[in-house]
Amino acid sequence: MYGDRAWIEIDREALRHNVRYLRSLLPEGCLLMPAVKANAYGHGSALVAGELNAMGVRAFCVATAEEGAELRRSGTAGDILVLGFSQGHDLTLAQEHGLILTAAGLDHARLLDESGRRLRVHLAIDTGMHRLGESAGDIDRLERICKMKNLHTEGAYTHLCTEDGDFSRRQAAEFKAAVSALRQRGCRIEKAHLLASSGLLRFPELGGDYARVGIALYGLGSLRGQVPEELRPVLSLKARVAAVKELEPGQGAGYGLRYTAYRESRLAVLTAGYADGLPRALSMGRGGALIRGKYAPTAGLMCMDQTLVDVTGIPDIRPGDEAVLIGRQGGGEISAYDLAQAAGTITNEILSRLGQRPERVLV
Ligand SMILES: *Cc1c(COP(=O)(O)O)cnc(C)c1O
Repeated sequence: MYGDRAWIEIDREALRHNVRYLRSLLPEGCLLMPAVKANAYGHGSALVAGELNAMGVRAFCVATAEEGAELRRSGTAGDILVLGFSQGHDLTLAQEHGLILTAAGLDHARLLDESGRRLRVHLAIDTGMHRLGESAGDIDRLERICKMKNLHTEGAYTHLCTEDGDFSRRQAAEFKAAVSALRQRGCRIEKAHLLASSGLLRFPELGGDYARVGIALYGLGSLRGQVPEELRPVLSLKARVAAVKELEPGQGAGYGLRYTAYRESRLAVLTAGYADGLPRALSMGRGGALIRGKYAPTAGLMCMDQTLVDVTGIPDIRPGDEAVLIGRQGGGEISAYDLAQAAGTITNEILSRLGQRPERVLV
């Protein structure tokens, strides 16, 4: 049951606020195409897509055909673009669920075409990232994809890969040149898009028909200070106090007894661990939890399903109390930025690795 052990709260008002804010930044004629891959960056793709559908969002992007199928099974309406590589059973899913696939290059497009299935695709155009996409300079190869008999190439996109304004503008220029050359050769590319979160926030003038916003929709940048203060974090991770332990000076706790009490100490056992998605790198005081509005650092090594925190000096803690691992409590806050910093990564990784086990609930 929700709230019994470890759970994730999705702040509906914050999500709606972020959608309204991001929409206010959209260039003329551009629509939101939220990135709900990796279970909506850990937020729960069915919940998030449901809310977005209710706000009139009609286009989504995911990483895999299976993620797209999952959205359809949960009732998501609108276009769903699969950004990653697809083959085999993915093509069946795409056809069954009306997904749009990415043609990752000429060779991949041949594989899609030769499946004999009628497939909707967007063309990935490589403008310097050197990840997926046929090179923007190779119009002949791009044209061959557009003219394949079983593919309906209804869109094209590229991905900006740096914070460098000059490089981004050069990527955009190459992309636009490629799209107009293809259109001149009779390719019916209806939708062209290039902005993700950082692009929309920094270079909205680059335009496009969609903005594929992921991390900003969830109220965050990859690192602190990268997005406007107006955006509000959507996700909180919470757990319960399972037990409180009193330790004498010199006693240890946890695996390897890596925690040592240097004074009379009290530890709380929390009902979430690294299998719930908390980075184990937050062990040994590098992370913590809010309990009764106070910060309690981790004590010793985090376990798979449980975490010890030092609550010495926080009075009246009892089993069943709520502990906040990401989010606010009292006047305190532990942000995804804090976890990312302590674990040496970015918020995207912290969020997308949150486990399947915590139930997601809209609050
Ligand atoms: C993940 C992804 C996005 C969303 O990126 P954010 O930085 O989270 O907004 C957009 N486009 C592509 C191709 C992606 O892979």
